[in-house]
Amino acid sequence: MKRIGVLTSGGDAPGMNAAIRAVVRKAIYEGLEVVGIFHGYQGLIDGNMELLNLGSVGDIIQRGGTKLYSARCPEFRTEEGQQKAIEQLKANGIEGLVIIGGDGSYRGSMTLTKKGFPCVGIPGTIDNDIPGTDYTLGFDTALNTVIDCIDKIRDTATSHDRTFIVEVMGRDAGDLALWAGLAGGAETIIIPEVNMNMEEVVERLKSGTSRGKKHSIIIVAEGVMSGSEFAAKLMEHANIETRVSVLGHIQRGGSPTGRDRVLASMFGAKAVEVLMAGNGGRAVGIQNHEVVDYDMNEAFERNEVFDKDMYQLSKELSI
Ligand code: ATP
Repeated sequence: MKRIGVLTSGGDAPGMNAAIRAVVRKAIYEGLEVVGIFHGYQGLIDGNMELLNLGSVGDIIQRGGTKLYSARCPEFRTEEGQQKAIEQLKANGIEGLVIIGGDGSYRGSMTLTKKGFPCVGIPGTIDNDIPGTDYTLGFDTALNTVIDCIDKIRDTATSHDRTFIVEVMGRDAGDLALWAGLAGGAETIIIPEVNMNMEEVVERLKSGTSRGKKHSIIIVAEGVMSGSEFAAKLMEHANIETRVSVLGHIQRGGSPTGRDRVLASMFGAKAVEVLMAGNGGRAVGIQNHEVVDYDMNEAFERNEVFDKDMYQLSKELSI
């Protein structure tokens, strides 16, 4: 293998730049050439790419977002789009690809692997929802961003004796809500993995108030419902007035934490090693503190259970 490509796809996540840097530097260290493909699969179809050198990835390890830009590309879901991508790969002499993205991006890369172009995935998403890796790139940074926001909201909540609802990202996975809720001392955490019990929510709020609590914070993962929907339900059920804060895309930006930078560096280097060994259809991840690669199909199995113990602990500590 002489030349590989790298692209970022789907929702961006802090640490993607650090991963691009690691892929490029490791590949060059190993004597390979690296082509950076812009705007995800759209750039692959359009031939929007350029050869990268050591300097191309200088001064990006600390930056959020992705230097290669990201996109969602409906055309790549079609046979025709995939064929165009393959023609571009051939024309540019690219023999293997590193894909940094979420599970949708992984599915796209599997279509290429099946057509003879080995692809390796790096899990880049703040949702921490990719089976096979304990952590995804960007999760730690997003978590710290949410904690920072909760701390600030808590100041105003306390000053006004208010109950706040904080809506955080997480369509199918509640990791961000759960971890941030635990770390931010939230009274109640509403996540997709657990059926919501409004009676219990109200009971917890009331018992807190009766022992003199000055504020309450409720974290709602967007996949369950919006913060304002939740506020309306609380009003309807128990006449409890709340304020709603939707954190939105703030959660996707910002300088990656040290942990995400280290993870990105290890993932990037590992992905290059896997490609050099001639393996495609693999994903890199971290399992029990060890960087591993595994069959990408395992990343599509929705069999992972969320951390019930952590959820229980969050309840015990916020009585
Ligand atoms: P996030 O977790 O932020 O949503 P993602 O990688 O899951 O990131 P998607 O929008 O699901 O984001 O996928 C990114 C792109 O991957 C799509 O726009 C499409 O080009 C490609 N893709 C997704 N699923 C498939 C598929 N089944 N076949 C081919 N390409 C796909």
